[in-house]
Amino acid sequence: MNNIAEQLALAYQKLAKNCEQLPESRQPVQLIAVSKTQPDTAVLAAYEAGQRLFGENYPQELATKAEALAHLPDLQWHFIGPIQSNKTRIIAQYASWVHSIDRLKIAQRLSEQRPADSADLQVLLQINISDEASKSGIAATEMLALAASVNALPRITLRGLMAIPAPGDEHKVTADFAAMQALSMQLQAHYPAATELSMGMSNDWPLALPYGATMIRLGTAIFGARNYEKHE
Ligand SMILES: *Cc1c(COP(=O)(O)O)cnc(C)c1O
Repeated sequence: MNNIAEQLALAYQKLAKNCEQLPESRQPVQLIAVSKTQPDTAVLAAYEAGQRLFGENYPQELATKAEALAHLPDLQWHFIGPIQSNKTRIIAQYASWVHSIDRLKIAQRLSEQRPADSADLQVLLQINISDEASKSGIAATEMLALAASVNALPRITLRGLMAIPAPGDEHKVTADFAAMQALSMQLQAHYPAATELSMGMSNDWPLALPYGATMIRLGTAIFGARNYEKHE
């Protein structure tokens, strides 16, 4: 096994172990391998080890990788980065899921630009749960209004929420995950299909599981350190 296959196997083992503590009624937790800044060969190594869901943050990098790896069946791209409105076309073309919807305008453009022969784009609203001035995401109080507008758009389907808690001590991060769970319950009361809750990264995902995470996004835990040097 190469290193990526080993790290992946280890992450799935830990995930299974942590899931033993959860109620059986919980939907399965999906692991998204965040491959931003990593070469195609790294994605391929993870794919060959059985991984199918990959996360990307930069539109151009997504396009390049998706084209290079288009021959791989079932590989699914999740766009998880900030979105500028002039980059929505690339995302609408290549992504199956978008976790980082934080404005109606972006959702409208994705809806208009989703190719007619693609399945509906599955989208999550990103919540700025730690209320950081510098972070993307909407305030919790804006959730239901944005959800109603997004839900009305054709070609995209509202599936849940995503958050990136600010780094902090365990108590603080846990409080943010708990707040996300409460928001998710509120959203599901209006939109029963919006069951997904994308939260938890390499250094905090075990804390997210008890609070209803259904998708965890792991980069360094799978691929090692990122190299930003030759990046766009
Ligand atoms: C980069 C990134 C990740 C992965 O982070 P790691 O700490 O490497 O696991 C997850 N989610 C988002 C939104 C990211 O930008």
